Amino acid sequence: MSKLNENLAKAEAYLAQFKDSGVLNLINGQSLPSSSGETFETISPVDLKPLASVARCTVQDIDSAAKAASDAFPAWSAVPGKERKAILHRIADAIVERAEEIAFLESLDTGQSIRFMSKAAIRGAENFRFFADHAPGARDGKTLYGPNQMNFTSRKPIGPVGVITPWNTPFMLSTWKIAPALAAGCTVVHKPAEFSPITARLLAEIALEAGLPAGVWNTVNGFGEDAGKALTEHPDIKAISFVGESRTGQMIMAQGAPTLKRVHFELGGKNPCVVFADADLERAVDAAVFMIYSLNGERCTSSSRLLVEDSIYDDFTAEVAKRAANIKIGHPLDPETVVGPLIHPTHEDKVLSYFDIAREEGATIAVGGAKASDAPGGGCYVQPTLFTQARNDMRIAQEEIFGPVLTAIPFKDEAEALQLANDVDYGLAAYLWTGDVTRSLRFADALDVGMIWVNSENIRHLPAPFGGTKSSGIGRDGGDYSFDFYMETKNVAIATAEHKIPKLGG
Ligand code: NAD
Repeated sequence: MSKLNENLAKAEAYLAQFKDSGVLNLINGQSLPSSSGETFETISPVDLKPLASVARCTVQDIDSAAKAASDAFPAWSAVPGKERKAILHRIADAIVERAEEIAFLESLDTGQSIRFMSKAAIRGAENFRFFADHAPGARDGKTLYGPNQMNFTSRKPIGPVGVITPWNTPFMLSTWKIAPALAAGCTVVHKPAEFSPITARLLAEIALEAGLPAGVWNTVNGFGEDAGKALTEHPDIKAISFVGESRTGQMIMAQGAPTLKRVHFELGGKNPCVVFADADLERAVDAAVFMIYSLNGERCTSSSRLLVEDSIYDDFTAEVAKRAANIKIGHPLDPETVVGPLIHPTHEDKVLSYFDIAREEGATIAVGGAKASDAPGGGCYVQPTLFTQARNDMRIAQEEIFGPVLTAIPFKDEAEALQLANDVDYGLAAYLWTGDVTRSLRFADALDVGMIWVNSENIRHLPAPFGGTKSSGIGRDGGDYSFDFYMETKNVAIATAEHKIPKLGG
């Protein structure tokens, strides 16, 4: 049996649990269909056939989940940090034990290749372990000395929170958002994306089985415009942690305004990879190719704009084109596959539409630029693509395409590189390749983005802040930044001397 067939057989076996009952909600520890009985299908991006039916939540279901999270909050927030730490480590252990099942189901549901998804569970478990270890200190604050006054701060969990996640790397992203909320002492209602709900359900179940009390983590399924909207409007939900598109973030901010929701937004990106002639060009090519063509290019931090110094532009882009043409497109469960099918036909249509836009705008399609129609299953496969001779004012340079599509633009000097890098609505990440350390510091300081990697691809360090500027988001997470979002800070000021108090009316 080929490795692909072996993997397909295993994936089918793992999927069987969802074939009969469908993907149910998990509310207050109970597996529940939607109160209306309505469902929708999650389909395979490989062949567009249904994988499982999914409960479609109503406003009433969201209310039940929010009530469950509210009821569970007093007890969970009072659990000592040391015990929360132990429970979160048990969840991490259980994730590792089921790593293969998670990887295969994630691959099936999203179309992401197994070579990358095989690490999704491990990274998810690492997120849990990191925040587990910080749970005992989550409430700690600062001591602030003032004249005749001593101040001390402490933190307490904000309350039940809503977590809304997108369909790209849904498992890993869910752990990244939910682990710190639980470590902080918050309870959670999670709404995963409708295109990829399977592993989110698995994750909540794993947590329950690992000993997380019922109601602390509730997972609800459904569409953004009803289930997601109801969650952002619910008065018991104190904060919304959202990952998704910038325009959805705008809607959520408006929806949450009447209940004064605290929001944390991780939104889109059009991240520049800036390559100077003095860089280690072989490593720069490796990183540029990896950061756009891995994960099908469906990655918020993808290096989707390649800015290359004039003198090396032709050679550099020729090498990128050569690599892109060699990338193996295939079934996501084939271990050889790099690029699998995109998540859904609607998204595929969006990505394909940029090929016409590129032609109309006068860019050159150096490689790719079409559907990969001979790939297995005939699903949403798109060829790894490189646009050259592009200008930064073109739509292909300004808009987030969110596929394996790279736009390369030449620059003449550092000033122009900086101007181009910053001249987009987004400000999530940037990658900088140069051998000149002074330039790297100067350039990084002037970039208007939240995260910069110098001479490196995106390597996540969990204590470091993650998030973007401009249309790429509001707030940061990672390390203590996550706790700041999920907690309220309280200050106590104590007089240390008898200062003069104005006597009014006396
Ligand atoms: P999306 O905004 O369409 O959907 C994200 C989630 O929001 C889904 O669960 C959806 O159901 C929900 N939603 C939609 N409308 C809603 C509403 N009115 N109220 C409440 N919830 C609503 O995003 P997507 O297409 O699933 O994901 C891709 C996007 O996510 C890209 O723009 C990508 O850059 C971004 N992303 C950002 C980061 C980051 O860290 N900055 C990470 C991953 C993905």
